[in-house]
Amino acid sequence: MPNNSVLVVGGGFSGITAALEAAEVGHEVFLVEKTPFLGGRVSQLNKYFPKLCPPSCGLEIQFQRIKKNPLVKIFTLAEVVSVSGSKGDYTVTVKIKPRYTAPNSVDLSEAAGELTASTPSDFEFGIGKRKPLHMDMPFAYPSRYVLEKGECSKAELEELAEVDGINLEDEERTVDLSVGSIVVATGWKPYDMSKLTNLGAGQLVNCVSNMQMERMASASGPTGGQIVRPSDGKAPKRVAFVQCAGSRDENHLNYCSYICCMASLKQATYVREQHPDCQVTIFYIDLRTPDRYQKFRNRVLEDENIHTVKGKVADAVQGENGSVILTVEDAVAGTKSHETFDMVVLATGMQPTLSEEQLPFDVSVDEDGFAAGNEEKGIFVAGCAKKPLDVMKSAQSGTGAAMKAIQTVRGR
Ligand code: SF4
Repeated sequence: MPNNSVLVVGGGFSGITAALEAAEVGHEVFLVEKTPFLGGRVSQLNKYFPKLCPPSCGLEIQFQRIKKNPLVKIFTLAEVVSVSGSKGDYTVTVKIKPRYTAPNSVDLSEAAGELTASTPSDFEFGIGKRKPLHMDMPFAYPSRYVLEKGECSKAELEELAEVDGINLEDEERTVDLSVGSIVVATGWKPYDMSKLTNLGAGQLVNCVSNMQMERMASASGPTGGQIVRPSDGKAPKRVAFVQCAGSRDENHLNYCSYICCMASLKQATYVREQHPDCQVTIFYIDLRTPDRYQKFRNRVLEDENIHTVKGKVADAVQGENGSVILTVEDAVAGTKSHETFDMVVLATGMQPTLSEEQLPFDVSVDEDGFAAGNEEKGIFVAGCAKKPLDVMKSAQSGTGAAMKAIQTVRGR
């Protein structure tokens, strides 16, 4: 009889969905997430499709379902380090980093505020800072701070040792788990802007990525939801979106990232809602708005202050007073021009996490880093680890992977 339990690697939307689907039909599930919190990329968005709700709305429901289901065992700050055995009978070793905080939800905001160091936050994609003791979002799950002990001074650690809810004796540990099948839901990361040398290589302060824009627009983000120029905090009057920034390019990502045209249209509405006089221009090669998203595109483009130009942006350079100058090759007019903007948003694409990281078990990965499942081995792939997807399709993919994992452990 195969082992009835399922391992899910990755605690983003597809991984959480896979875990819940399996647990809610009676399977023990181990959900392993390498960061301190569940929620993945969705937790970093301001709003997501199709209903343009804030991430708290979809994720909080999922977190409640997890809390109520004792069959879901969560490991955060955790990584799978080895897998042995075969389909139906795997032994998985998971390494768990110390969190240095007590398991119960304790408000450590006061202790965090006392700490002096602050570091560019990965959660904010570098446009915001965090303290060594942090909880990245208000609805974080687990609702439990994490302490980066190495970032604190000796004196601070002595004070923290006296704080209720801090455990400086916490240590790295490993656990061995027995499972029958595995779901890989390792997700994606935004393409690294520093590789886009023609578009400023991440060095133009008022040229941000689309994920940085999500954090800027988010009420819990570094600007409290205000879309302003990073250089001077002023409201922008001219904003450009540069599509396919690194996607559909054999020197970068050799595929379409599926959602970034929709993301730019959505972000154009963020800008226009906050800045009624702002002019927005979207430079695109193809404006891809599949299926029902076409209606959203039509609605957004009814705004006479949102313009589209079919053409490639050849380069971006620093202009005067923090402006950014784009060289634009207009594909319709057949002209080349230089246009100046207060702020530019690069629609950087999705790069699968497994393009640069490996898992310690047999998952085949294509040349771009997208993974394929292996039914023979009881290993299935969900979400953007498989291909670029929106949130809804990621969830559907999580459900599909869970169903296959369940069939495996049930011996069907
Ligand atoms: Fe380019 Fe749009 Fe595809 Fe993104 S979704 S890669 S911006 S065509």
